[in-house]
Amino acid sequence: MSGFERIHMSTIQAPDRHRVVVIGSGFGGLFGTKALRHSPVDITMLAKTTHHLFQPLLYQVATGILSEGEIAPPTREVLASQDNAQVLLGEVTGIDLEQRLVTSQVLGRETVTPYDSLIVAAGAKQSYFGNDRFSEHAPGMKSIDDALELRGRIFGAFEMAELGANRGDNVDHLLTFVVVGAGPTGVEMVGQIAELAHRTLKRDFRAINTRSARVILLDAAPQVLPPFGQKLGEKAKAELEKLGVEVILGAIVTDVDERGIEMKFKDGRLERINTVTKIWAAGVQASSLGQVLAEQTGAPLDRAGRIGVNPDLTLPGHPEVFVVGDMIALDNLPGVAQVAIQGAKYAAKEIDNRLEGKAPQEPFKYFDKGSMAIISRFNAVAMVGKLRLTGVIAWLMWLAVHLVYITGFKNRVTAVLHWFISFLGRGRSERTTTEQQIFARAALARLGRGATDLVSAPGEYDAARDDQERQRREELEKHALEESRLTDSGSRGVPQDQR
Ligand SMILES: Cc1cc2nc3c(=O)[nH]c(=O)nc-3n(C[C@H](O)[C@H](O)[C@H](O)COP(=O)(O)OP(=O)(O)OC[C@H]3O[C@@H](n4cnc5c(N)ncnc54)[C@H](O)[C@@H]3O)c2cc1C
Repeated sequence: MSGFERIHMSTIQAPDRHRVVVIGSGFGGLFGTKALRHSPVDITMLAKTTHHLFQPLLYQVATGILSEGEIAPPTREVLASQDNAQVLLGEVTGIDLEQRLVTSQVLGRETVTPYDSLIVAAGAKQSYFGNDRFSEHAPGMKSIDDALELRGRIFGAFEMAELGANRGDNVDHLLTFVVVGAGPTGVEMVGQIAELAHRTLKRDFRAINTRSARVILLDAAPQVLPPFGQKLGEKAKAELEKLGVEVILGAIVTDVDERGIEMKFKDGRLERINTVTKIWAAGVQASSLGQVLAEQTGAPLDRAGRIGVNPDLTLPGHPEVFVVGDMIALDNLPGVAQVAIQGAKYAAKEIDNRLEGKAPQEPFKYFDKGSMAIISRFNAVAMVGKLRLTGVIAWLMWLAVHLVYITGFKNRVTAVLHWFISFLGRGRSERTTTEQQIFARAALARLGRGATDLVSAPGEYDAARDDQERQRREELEKHALEESRLTDSGSRGVPQDQR
């Protein structure tokens, strides 16, 4: 870290109030911070992005229905009126439970933030089940960058197919789209790609027939949407097939490269699909901060890297540290937004209770409000308690729930407008793609330290500028001297050999 800036937040924080540090600006981080808005605490939210991301709608950004701003408002703006909260950009790289310090970094700048209470809500990232090399050609869907890259790849594949078809090439691999993972994300994604090919784009191209595109959903599991139970899973599969989606089950992905995907069936049969566009929606791995916490507490980690917490969501031996959301392994809780929201509110309440000298709460209990997945326009499956819903009713329910949870009034209004355009009409309002969307991730991965390699440290920058400025000044002074000498000696306009 030599030459890099290091800020110690204790030197700029008021020391007299209880300090709460919240890691993450996702569902857990944001709802935990908001739940503390009336508490006598100073909150510092540390997150590696400047926005709060509504992940359930990422697939709509990827398929051109919504803009990224509609599902990812700036956290700073969301919390602008909450005076006891400040937001700091940075990726948390270290947590010192003994000293109660959190270290975060952004572009080589390091910040150390002390806390009295800590809420860790760093979520999960995509898992390729030990085959991280697949990610180069099969992006996941966990971030705005992922969704925009996928948007570029999906619409770009149709463009390349049109070009190829004009040259008389075989473009089947460009018109084949494979989504790996038949959970809610995969189902929603594949449904939207099918609608794009069969409805939205059908009149936009001349050399290709977008309706001939192959849209494939692939999973190792024997059914679609396992958490929804067998009946809804079968219903969802049938509806996808009606949309023209090929559903391949019981197939494990064994290889992914630029031009295709290879899979193996239970009977040992290997099959390859030639496809340029592969989308990975198959697994999650909890944030590596789980490992950081496990090493210091001895708390167990499960196979997905989720950390075992006490029934009150605290870490063993550290009642001042709460872990919530996708990072925790407790009572087989699912990785869904409501687990994060309810857990974060529980942690906030516990911090409040302690400050007020109240008794601890009962152990955390998750209230399941239900699950839903959209298949296509006006068609969804939903599970609420014992109720199983399908079709338009489930779709209307999906619409209502998502409107309630999208952050910000402005975003709700524009999202409704875009849904009208896409679901009642044929259009997609957000089809803009750029070369950088598609290739920047791969380019950054080729740099040793990613974007950090492209920015100088503050000290280095100033030194380099001073040096450049001195050289330039010397050049200009020399030039001015020569100019005035030429004028004074009457040498201007006189050929060299006659001087
Ligand atoms: C595509 C997709 C669709 C989904 N659909 C649904 C759905 O329909 N319904 C549902 O209930 N759930 C859905 N989920 C799951 C749901 O989004 C998660 O369960 C929920 O976001 C978990 O909340 P969290 O706060 O634990 O993590 P997240 O919301 O993921 O937030 C994690 C935060 O931590 C930040 N962070 C991570 N690491 C660091 C670090 N080292 N330093 C600083 N900050 C860090 C991230 O930037 C982010 O702000 C979906 C998820 C995905 C990916």
